[in-house]
Amino acid sequence: MSSTDGHRPTRDARAYSDGSDAIRPAAVRVEHGRDISGERTVRVDACIIGTGAGGAPVAKELAEGGMTVAMLEEGERVTTDDFNARPRDMMARLYRDAGQIATLGNVPILLPLGKAVAGTTLINSGTCFRTPPAVLEMWGERFGLDAMGAAELDPFFRRVERIQNVVQVPEELAGRNALVVKRGADALGWSGDFIYRNVRGCVGSGICTFGCPTSAKQHVGITYVPLAWNAGATTFTGCRARRLVTTGGRVRSVEASTAGGSRLRVDCDLVVVACGAIGTPLFLRAQDLRLDSNELGRNLSIHPATGVRAEFDEDINMAEGVPQSYFIDEFADEGIMFEGAAGPPDYAAMSFPFSGERHRELMLSYPSISQFGLMVSDLSRGHVHERGGLLQIRYDLNRQDTATFKRGIELLCELYWAAGAKVVYPPIEGIAELRDGDLSAVREWEPRPGALTLLAFHPLGTARADARPANGVVDENLALRGVEGIHVADGSVVPSSIGVNPQITIMTLATRLAFHLLGAPAPHDEPEPEAIAEPRITRPHALTA
Ligand SMILES: Cc1cc2nc3c(=O)[nH]c(=O)nc-3n(C[C@H](O)[C@H](O)[C@H](O)COP(=O)(O)OP(=O)(O)OC[C@H]3O[C@@H](n4cnc5c(N)ncnc54)[C@H](O)[C@@H]3O)c2cc1C
Ligand code: SF4
Repeated sequence: MSSTDGHRPTRDARAYSDGSDAIRPAAVRVEHGRDISGERTVRVDACIIGTGAGGAPVAKELAEGGMTVAMLEEGERVTTDDFNARPRDMMARLYRDAGQIATLGNVPILLPLGKAVAGTTLINSGTCFRTPPAVLEMWGERFGLDAMGAAELDPFFRRVERIQNVVQVPEELAGRNALVVKRGADALGWSGDFIYRNVRGCVGSGICTFGCPTSAKQHVGITYVPLAWNAGATTFTGCRARRLVTTGGRVRSVEASTAGGSRLRVDCDLVVVACGAIGTPLFLRAQDLRLDSNELGRNLSIHPATGVRAEFDEDINMAEGVPQSYFIDEFADEGIMFEGAAGPPDYAAMSFPFSGERHRELMLSYPSISQFGLMVSDLSRGHVHERGGLLQIRYDLNRQDTATFKRGIELLCELYWAAGAKVVYPPIEGIAELRDGDLSAVREWEPRPGALTLLAFHPLGTARADARPANGVVDENLALRGVEGIHVADGSVVPSSIGVNPQITIMTLATRLAFHLLGAPAPHDEPEPEAIAEPRITRPHALTA
C-alpha cells in the first residue's frame, strides 16, 4: 500500500460493522473450578492448557476433527455483561495481576497479559497481520522451519481470517486521532493504511482493550471457544495446570488446582500447552522433564513500544472511533512500526507520563490531544524464570534498539509537525515538550534506555521452534522434544520478533498444529480474502537477533 493511493477500499464496509453473523454456542460447556469439590478425574483424548490465541484454535479444530477435548483455563469466563467501560475496573478484572506485570532490567517495561477465557485476545486491540512472508523465509533459513513458508501457511491463514472475520477499518470509523496522523503521513509521503481487524459489528466505541461493550471484537472466547463447545469440548475455568504426569517417556495426565481449592485430573493421550510466552516456560520448567535443549525460557522478544502525544488546535477526541485503526510501515525495514494508540480519558490519564499540575493541564486539553504508538522489532532478548515462587522477566534494551527508539520518536514528532500539531510531547525523560516545529532536543538526545517510557504487548519466543534439536524447545511440528505427546501452541514457539502484531501468526500456527495432530491435509477449500494487509517488511535479517 502507499499513501499516494489513499487507502484501498474495504471489500465491503458492512462486513466490518454488521454483527448479525456472530458465532453462537449451542450450549455453554463450562465447568467452574470453584464448583469442583474433592478430587475429580475426567478422561479425554486431548487436554489443552490455556484458552488464548494459541489454545482456543487447537481445541476447536481437534474437537471438530473428532477428538474429545478438555480446555483448562486459570482465569474465569467473562462476558459483555461483565464490562463497564471503565479502564481501571477492567484492568483489575481482565488483566493478569491487574496489568502490573513488568520486566526487570535497564528500563522497566510494563508487559500486560490477559487471564480469562480467551487469554490476552480478550483485552487486545484486534489488529490483524499475517506473518510477513520475508519473516517466514528467514525462519526457513535461520531456524530450519521451511515447512512454515508463506505458501504452506496460506490455507491456515485463510481459515483463521474467515473464522475471525478479518476486515479493514472503514475510514468513517477510524477516528480523528488516526485521520490527523494520516494527514501527517500523507504530507510526508509515508506509506500507511487503515488496519485490518477481527470484528463483527464494530461501532467505533474506542475501548477494545478494556472489554468490547458490543461483543464486536472477535476475541477467541466468542469465536473458537464456542465452536469448540459446539463440537463437544468442555472448558474448565479457574483451573490452573500444575503438573504433567508422564510414564515411559509419554504424557498420561494433567493435574490442575482449582479455584475451589480442589484438584482436577485430566487423563489424556495428548497435551497442548498454550499458556502464553510467559506462562508456558514457567509451567514446563516446573515439571520434571528431560528436555533436549536449554532454550526454555530464553529468547524472549517483546516488541517494545512507546507513544508520542501532540496537542492540536482542533478537536480530536481520542475516545471516539477505533483506537488502533491506522498503521504506518514506511520504516518497517528499520524495525519501526507506527500504530494507533488512542483511548478514553481515564486511559489517557493512566498513560500520560506526567504528574501534578502538568498532568492536570494536559488532561484539560484531552479533547485536542492525539496519541500514536511506535513499536520496535527488538534485537534485545530476555528470559523468563521463577524465583522464590515469583515471576521474573529479565530484559535489557540493547544499544541498537535504544537507538531505534530514538529514531522512531524523532520520526513520529516530525509526522506530528507535518500534521499541524501545536505542541509535541516525546516520551523521553528530560524533554517535556517540543514547540514550533523544533526537533533539536530529540536529535541531540544521547540515547539511554532508562529515560524511555516503555510498554510491550507481544511476548514471543521462550519455547521457540527450531528444526535443530539443540536450538529449539519444540520441533517444526511444535512437538516438545524429550517427551511424547506434548505440543506447544502459543506465542512461545514463535522464534523471532515478527515486526507486526502476532495474534494471527499464533492462531495460524495453532491451526496448522491441530491439522497435523489429526493427520489431516491442509484446508485448501478456504476462500481467498479479497485483501490483506501487506506491511513493507523485506529485510527481516536486519531485524532479528
Ligand atoms: C493490551 C494488548 C493489546 C494487544 N493488541 C494486539 C493486537 O491488536 N493484535 C495482535 O495481534 N496482538 C495483540 N496483542 C497480543 C496478543 O493478544 C497476544 O500475542 C496473544 O493473545 C498471545 O496468545 P497466547 O496464546 O500466546 O497467550 P494468551 O492469549 O495470553 O493465552 C494464554 C492463556 O493461558 C492461561 N494460562 C496460563 N498459565 C496457565 C496454567 N498453568 N493453567 C491454565 N491456564 C493457564 C492464561 O490465563 C491465558 O488465558 C495485544 C496484547 C495486549 C496485552
Ligand atoms: S471500537 Fe468499540 S465496538 Fe469496535 S471493537 Fe473496539 S470496543 Fe468493540
